[in-house]
Amino acid sequence: MRAARLHAYGKPMQIDDVPRPTPGPGQVVIRVEGAGFCHSDLHIISGDIPALPRMPLTLGHENAGTVAAIGPGVTAVREGDRVAVYGGWGDGFCDYCVAGEENLCPSMQWVGLSNHDGGFAEFLLVPHERYLIRLNTLEPKAAAPLTDAALTPYRAVTRVLPSIRPDYPVLVIGCGALGQFGVKILRLFSGADIIAIDLDEAKLATARGSGATHTINATDPDVLRRILELARGIGVSAAFDFVGADSTLTLALASTRTQGRVVKVGLAGGTAQVAALKTVKPEVAVSVSWWGNIRELREVLALAENGRLTPIPLEFWPLDRINEVYDRVKHGRVAGRAVMTP
Ligand SMILES: [Zn+2]
Repeated sequence: MRAARLHAYGKPMQIDDVPRPTPGPGQVVIRVEGAGFCHSDLHIISGDIPALPRMPLTLGHENAGTVAAIGPGVTAVREGDRVAVYGGWGDGFCDYCVAGEENLCPSMQWVGLSNHDGGFAEFLLVPHERYLIRLNTLEPKAAAPLTDAALTPYRAVTRVLPSIRPDYPVLVIGCGALGQFGVKILRLFSGADIIAIDLDEAKLATARGSGATHTINATDPDVLRRILELARGIGVSAAFDFVGADSTLTLALASTRTQGRVVKVGLAGGTAQVAALKTVKPEVAVSVSWWGNIRELREVLALAENGRLTPIPLEFWPLDRINEVYDRVKHGRVAGRAVMTP
C-alpha cells in the first residue's frame, strides 16, 4: 500500500510502498478515507518538536475510514463499518488509562506520533477495537478532523465551564481549526460573549459565523485595551490560547480576570510568565489542556451526528500532494482543515 512517510525532519514526506498491515488478536485495520493534516504535524515535520521515536514514520493522527479487516476476538466492529479512530493510544493499565484518561498516559503511543504509523496511508492498523467509534450519518472524511480539531477544544472548554459566566466574555486566541471548533463549542455550552482573535481577517469572519460575538485582529496595537473594554474593565472569565506562543500567552494572562482561567492548548512553544501582581490577577489558574479521552470523543461525534456541532470548512487532498498541503498549512492558506483522502 502507499504511505506518506517522513524520513528526516525538515524534509518533504515521501510516498513509499509499504506492506499492508494485518490485524492481530483484538486489532482492526481500517481503509483510511480521511486523515486530517493538523498544525501539530507541521511542528513535528519541521523538527520544531522532534518527538518521533523512529524514522521513517507515517504521520496522521486525525483518522476515520471503513473497517477493512478485523483480528481474532474483535466484536465491537465488523468489516464495512464506518468508524472514527480515537488516536491517544495508552498502555491501558496506568492510573490515567484506568481512569479513562488515556490521553494522559505517561507511556502514550499515539497514532502517527509514536511507533504506531498514522493515517497518511491507504490502511491503518488500530491496536485495539476500543479506539473505534462507529459513525451513523457522518462521512468518515468529515469525521476525521473531529478526532483532534474538535476533541481537543471540547475537552479544553468543557473542563472549565464552571468558571465561565454569562456576565463576562471569554477569549479565544487563534482561529485555526481548533479555535473555530472552540468558538462553536463555547457557543453551544455557554451563554458568554466570545471574543475571537487572529491575524487573518478571513478566519475572523469564519469565527463570527461560528458564534464569536466580537473579533479583533491580533495586529491591532490596542488589542488588550479593547478586550478589557469588552470585559467591563475587569477581564475575561476564561482565555483559551490555541496558539501557545509567548505573545499569545502574555495576552491571555493579561486579559483574564481575578479567579479566571487561562487554558493553553496550542503548541507554538511559548512560555507563560506567571508573576503575581505583575502579569496575572489573583487566583488565576493556568492549565495545559491535552487532547481528549474516548468518552469525550464519543460526545463530540454525537454532537456532530445530531447536527448541533456544525463542520468547519474542509478541503480534501490526495495522498501524493501531501507536501503541497504542508505548504498550505504552513502559510496559513487553509481556511479550516485540510484532509488527506488516501
Ligand atoms: Zn496508560
